[in-house]
This record gives sequence, C-alpha cells and structure tokens, in this order.
Amino acid sequence: MIKVHAAVASQSLIFDLDYASLERDLEKWGEQKYRARQIWQGLYHNLWDRTEQFSTLPIYLRQKLTEAYRFSSLSPSLSLNSIDGETSKTLFILPDGKAVEAVLMQYEKRRTVCISTQAGCAMGCVFCATGQMGFQRNLSSGEIVEQVLYYARQLKERDEQVTNIVIMGMGEPFHNYEATMRAIDQLNDPQGYNFGARRITVSTVGLVPAIRKFTSEKRQVNLAISLHAADDELRSSLLPINRKYPLNDLLQACQEYVKLTHRRLSFEWALIQGVNDSIEQAVKLAKLLNIFRQEDGAILCHVNVIPLNPTNKYSGQATTHKRAQEFQKVLAIHGIPCTIRIRRGIDIQAGCGQLATRAKSSESD
Ligand code: SAH
Ligand code: SF4
Repeated sequence: MIKVHAAVASQSLIFDLDYASLERDLEKWGEQKYRARQIWQGLYHNLWDRTEQFSTLPIYLRQKLTEAYRFSSLSPSLSLNSIDGETSKTLFILPDGKAVEAVLMQYEKRRTVCISTQAGCAMGCVFCATGQMGFQRNLSSGEIVEQVLYYARQLKERDEQVTNIVIMGMGEPFHNYEATMRAIDQLNDPQGYNFGARRITVSTVGLVPAIRKFTSEKRQVNLAISLHAADDELRSSLLPINRKYPLNDLLQACQEYVKLTHRRLSFEWALIQGVNDSIEQAVKLAKLLNIFRQEDGAILCHVNVIPLNPTNKYSGQATTHKRAQEFQKVLAIHGIPCTIRIRRGIDIQAGCGQLATRAKSSESD
C-alpha cells in the first residue's frame, strides 16, 4: 500500500512556481527581491532540493521556505538499471500515491532523459502499457520539471549533465498542454536551468487543435508525431484518437507546422509484426510524407521506426530486425529518411508505462 502524506500534499511544490510568483511571495513576506534570484539559483543552478542546502539564505528564511513549500513531489520507489548499464529507469510515487516513470538513457556522450506528463493516459492506444492503465491525472508543471532535475542531480555527481530531454514517457503531453508548456519554459529559462529548447522533443499522438496551438506559439522545441499507420482503418484500430482526428486532418496540421516553423518533423512508428510492417504500409507512408518535400527537393521530416515493446494486454509482437531494415529500405527508395531505433532497456521494461504496470501487478499479487 502507498501512504499519502496529507500535510506534505497541502503545501505547494516550489517547482510549480514561476519566477514572478516566487518574487511576489517573498515580497509578501517583506523580503527583498534579490532573495528570489538566490533561491532560483539554488534550485536550478546548484540543483538543491533541501532548504538546509541554501547556505546563501539566513536561517529564518530557510525555515519559512520549509513551511511554505514542498521541495520535492517525487519519491523514487523503484530503480532499475539495464544490464548494459546504458538505461536506468525510475518509478516515482507522487504525494497522492499515483506513480509515474522517468528514464535516463546514456549513449556515448548523450544523456537523454525521458519524462512523463500524466499518470496513466486517456488515449487508449492498444499497444501501450500506459494507455492500457487508463487516465489517472495530469502532472503539474513542477512535477514534470522535477523528473529532469532528479537525473540532473545524479549526473552532476559525476560532473555530467542532461544533454537531451524527450517528453515521451507516460501520458499525452498535448492532453496536458498548459502544464507541459510551462515545464518546457521553466526548463528553458535562461535565468534558471537554461536548457536549450532545441534539445527538447515533445511527442504527441496527434491532437490536432493542440498541434496548431503549438505551431502558433513558435517554441524552438522539436515535435514528434506518433503515426504508426498510413491509412485510417489501421490507425484507428491502433490509436482510437484517429477517429476524432483522422490522417488527413493530422497531416494538414503537420504541414502547417513545417510551413510556419521550417522545422523538421519526426514521425514515430512502432513496428508490429504482421500489423503495420508490410511493404504496402511503407509505400503508403512514403506517399503521405511526400507533402513535406520542399521546393529545393529537401524533405522536412524523418521517420523513427522502433520494434514494438510487447505489453501484457496486447498480443502484437515486435517486427524482426530484418523486416525493419526492409521497411526502412522502401522509405529510402522514396527519399524518406528513416532511422531504426534500438529498443534500449528492454530487460528493465523501459517501454512507456511498463514499470508502473509491473509495480501495480506485483502490488496486487
Ligand atoms: N503520448 C505521446 C508520448 C508518450 S508515448 C505519444 O503517444 O506520442 C511515446 C512513444 O512511445 C509514442 O510514439 C508511442 O506510440 C510509443 N509507444 C507506446 N507504447 C509502445 C510500445 N509498447 N512499443 C513501442 N513504442 C511504444
Ligand atoms: Fe497515451 Fe502515448 Fe500511450 Fe497513446 S502511446 S496511450 S497517447 S502514452
């Protein structure tokens, strides 16, 4: 059983505050403005998460901060490292007992953190462990930011830093749009964590109105679309949201994105044996993506194929590597760039939502 700490849950999380709100709170306490700067530096430069660490502040103020704010919402409850040592996954328990996962992937010089935006997910994609558990709740912006800071602290101990952030953990970021964007802006804040927007990627199942909003806001963040099928019938059978936003509407919104931002768009494709790994699907996909071809012949999109991570409640299996290569080859013939992603951390159930599912089923064992 997971206990909920009522007193802790009633305080606000300091990472939910933007700089102006922190300044306002301090002003209310009769403090000078520069204290906000010191606190911000402590949180996002020094990566402090306990008030005792704030040596730049007088003791009475540290005490006040302890009373007013919670410095952490995430309690790591289970961490697993892959055998090759490259992937490390953590299950966090939130103050209300809900669980979310984050992953650190270390490959050569890259230190990529994959973070969650919701506990569970309402989108119900059939092959996804998070979708299979249904929607629980949205994370706050601070709860999203804190996942990055957790790994940033770990890496700092060995003089390393997070190099990339992918918003591809549990949940649909565009179904929790405001908090996700606030989190991105907080991470990006030059006075704070100062993490480059171009090194952040947000992935969506294809919520068309939110894609349009995102396009109009012109953040320098990379966008990935989970496509997984090149016709409506197949896509709707895998991703129920396709019934609401069919391929035509989705691709139109994608085209507007590319036209307005001139940024290259990524498409995600989980290869499922005998379902969406046919040559026919690859040809259809190539034809669909031709709309991203520019006047100079360059194509402003990229496909990432990844063999499916099998889950308990879906019978589909991963495509073989040979078949993945054939799929890639068809796209290449049509001039569509495609990368085969390796399933990292398969031995630690690093697929989205898989650790939370495992923890839950062992709880009820
Ligand atoms: N909700 C967002 C982001 C989280 S899922 C989205 O759907 O894009 C991140 C990626 O993992 C998506 O491309 C999703 O389709 C994919 N995914 C989910 N379950 C998977 C599985 N079992 N095997 C392979 N990829 C999976
Ligand atoms: Fe939600 Fe993404 Fe999983 Fe679909 S694939 S259920 S949108 S987390």
